[in-house]
Amino acid sequence: MTAFGLVFLVALILSTALRLWLGARHIAHVQAHRSAVPPQFASDVTLEAHQKAADYTSAKTRLGLVSAAVDTALVLWLTFGGGVQKLYEAAAGWFDGEIARGLVLIMLVAIVTTLVELPLGLYRTFRIEERFGFNKITPALYWIDFVKNAALAAAFGLPLAACVLWLMDVSGGYWWLYAWLVWVAFNLFVLAIYPTWIAPLFNRFSPMNDPELRDRVEKLLQRCGFRVKGLLVMDGSRRSSHGNAYFTGFGNSKRIVFFDTLLTRLTPQEVEAVLAHELGHFRLRHVVKRIAWIFAASLAFLWLLDFVMHQDWFYAGLNVDARSIAVALVLFFMVVPSFTFLLQPLLSSYSRKHEFEADSYAAQNASASHLVSALVKLYKDNASTLTPDPVHSAFYDSHPPALIRIARLQRSRA
Ligand SMILES: [Zn+2]
Repeated sequence: MTAFGLVFLVALILSTALRLWLGARHIAHVQAHRSAVPPQFASDVTLEAHQKAADYTSAKTRLGLVSAAVDTALVLWLTFGGGVQKLYEAAAGWFDGEIARGLVLIMLVAIVTTLVELPLGLYRTFRIEERFGFNKITPALYWIDFVKNAALAAAFGLPLAACVLWLMDVSGGYWWLYAWLVWVAFNLFVLAIYPTWIAPLFNRFSPMNDPELRDRVEKLLQRCGFRVKGLLVMDGSRRSSHGNAYFTGFGNSKRIVFFDTLLTRLTPQEVEAVLAHELGHFRLRHVVKRIAWIFAASLAFLWLLDFVMHQDWFYAGLNVDARSIAVALVLFFMVVPSFTFLLQPLLSSYSRKHEFEADSYAAQNASASHLVSALVKLYKDNASTLTPDPVHSAFYDSHPPALIRIARLQRSRA
């Protein structure tokens, strides 16, 4: 084994061990706090609901442990096990051109990955979500979604991959810069067409009719100086009873989408407070900042890919004989997560900082106490644990733990 192969193997083993350790800690912590509702929630959350949340969290985390092991086994097979080499040889046997071979290789890797992860997805939806009463999707709709997602991935992913491979092939030393521009344009294009072309393939959207709620929401938007194209309700209940609200679109075509499951559970004041939080994310430029970070990071990764694809040790270390741009592309994005996993706590804490900021925006522009009561209902309805393991939470959670988040809101109310 070469030095680079060894470095990658160590990174893969350490990141997998860390994932398993964090998951095991989380389950142990949640189970240790299963017997009592935290005193701050005692009046709102029953012991039964608290225990359901503990068991639901443990079941999801346990599946996450299996998933970590499966992911690692797959990466080991694709690299040291010679999987990428075999798939590339198959592609090379069918096609001549470098780009055609590359596209087939990318498709084969995507198909293998999808098939390996399929049982985990089925188990999550039809065992875990079903057992805890959240699943509303029928097997027929599940497979229809699966086919639609695969068709979309092919329709958008293949032209993008072909374009990037072509740039890598013909445009010389600065291909990574051109590929980055294509990547940025592609992402902006998908963001722009998502609300009108993609989302309606999966859900029905109807205008929000409730006059009292409409009135509240419109007043809030006015107060915050916000203009949107539509207030829509989405039939989220076709798939799951988990509720949510989100923004989509750009500039003046912005829309606000409420899951029907959210509207049936929250009072108009609570919906207003949740929406004020979402408006906060927009007003404080969290969305733009996030997109800017992703674009900056992708430029750095493409530059790094350009560097490693010209190094023999990169291919040799990952047990691949073939020197091909597509092989480099596939290997690179397989190897990178083992090294970037340690950045996860930074990304999570950046996201939690934004959540606190959006909460204070909501406290200023709507009502902190209604946001608290909405959050308590959502924690309860979604069976989110109120007692996460602190280390697991610091590492992964994009949202602050319930106790800390609510304590802050209650202080801002006083
Ligand atoms: Zn938020």
